[in-house]
Amino acid sequence: MNHMDLADRYGARNYHPLPVMLVRGEGAWVWDHAGTRYLDMLSAYSAVNQGHLHPRIVAAARSQLDRIALTSRAFHNDQLGPFLQRLAALSGFGRVLPMNTGAEAVETALKAARKWAHTVKGVTMDRAEIIVANGNFHGRTTTIVSFSTEEQYRLGFGPFTPGFSSVPFGDADALEAAITPQTAAVLLEPIQGEGGVVMPPPGYFARVRELCSRHRVLLILDEIQTGLCRTGRTWAFEHEGIRPDGLCVGKALGGGLYPVSAFCADSELMDVFTPGDHGSTFGGNPLAAAIGLAALDVLVDEDLAKKAADNGTWFMEQLRGLRTPVDVRGRGLLIGVELAGPARPVCEALMARGILCKDTHRTVVRFAPPLVVARADLETAMNVIAEVMP
Ligand SMILES: *Cc1c(COP(=O)(O)O)cnc(C)c1O
Repeated sequence: MNHMDLADRYGARNYHPLPVMLVRGEGAWVWDHAGTRYLDMLSAYSAVNQGHLHPRIVAAARSQLDRIALTSRAFHNDQLGPFLQRLAALSGFGRVLPMNTGAEAVETALKAARKWAHTVKGVTMDRAEIIVANGNFHGRTTTIVSFSTEEQYRLGFGPFTPGFSSVPFGDADALEAAITPQTAAVLLEPIQGEGGVVMPPPGYFARVRELCSRHRVLLILDEIQTGLCRTGRTWAFEHEGIRPDGLCVGKALGGGLYPVSAFCADSELMDVFTPGDHGSTFGGNPLAAAIGLAALDVLVDEDLAKKAADNGTWFMEQLRGLRTPVDVRGRGLLIGVELAGPARPVCEALMARGILCKDTHRTVVRFAPPLVVARADLETAMNVIAEVMP
């Protein structure tokens, strides 16, 4: 059996990958077994913003692998402090709690918000409520799927964690109506990536910020997909002129090499955690911290936010010139192309022409290449896209 068949034979069937097996990657490009080259326009769902195997990030990982990789948080390590300091400076928050996957960063945010409500805001114990948006995607744990509005993410996985309510994304009036004295937090994505690259209406987040402050409710943003320069700014919330109370970061924080995530907040919120409240065996390990620090340095030193903004504006203009799409939307290099019918056949046709991307929400093709992608490579891709969906 070949390797693809082995994965089908022995793996759980929780994915339906495109039939291409990748064996090598460099920058914005990946190669299959036969040596065929593809432009990666998915970037592992935006976990590869810095490109595949960025030499500086690989070098940081290699040099750390020659020293020590895992200590647990039972002891200090010499990589964690500088990494936390760097992410605190870049996010503008006073404190950072390192985890591994995005879902864990979200779980950390939910626990922080609940404990803050109970111990600081004065909500009756175990009554804290959190408001989310319809069409959200925050990960796959049982608590997180408890407040998904996607039928398939929930079906069969109950009983669910109580304490969540969901309102339409982009509707500030509905959000205000859902706030109660028990409300601890509002948890939102600045742009709903998995939901189909859904943009908020102008002014929405400014109103949400104002409502949260007025009702003493925390505003927590999940920037696991939109953060770290993807939308043309370091954080998508910068486009909205607001600052959240808590921030979930993941994906590209691991530089395309390793799972690294974090929850960032100021002391008033983060200090609800005391030793023993919360943790992770691998969170903040020296290998993760060394990689995370290099991942952040590359984003800043190569000005990948500006590259994403410039290339994204150009690419979206080109896509808007096509006849086929029903809608083209996004920011920076997080772009969704809505089609009249299923997007998967289009992704398969693009794959056959050397471009890898993935359908999301059935009718949307998401284009999210590594931010290091060269303009010339985007031009080549655009010619192919124009032939596949004129
Ligand atoms: C990918 C993603 C997550 C979950 O991250 P994992 O690392 O897969 O657990 C959470 N929120 C958003 C917005 C994401 O895009």
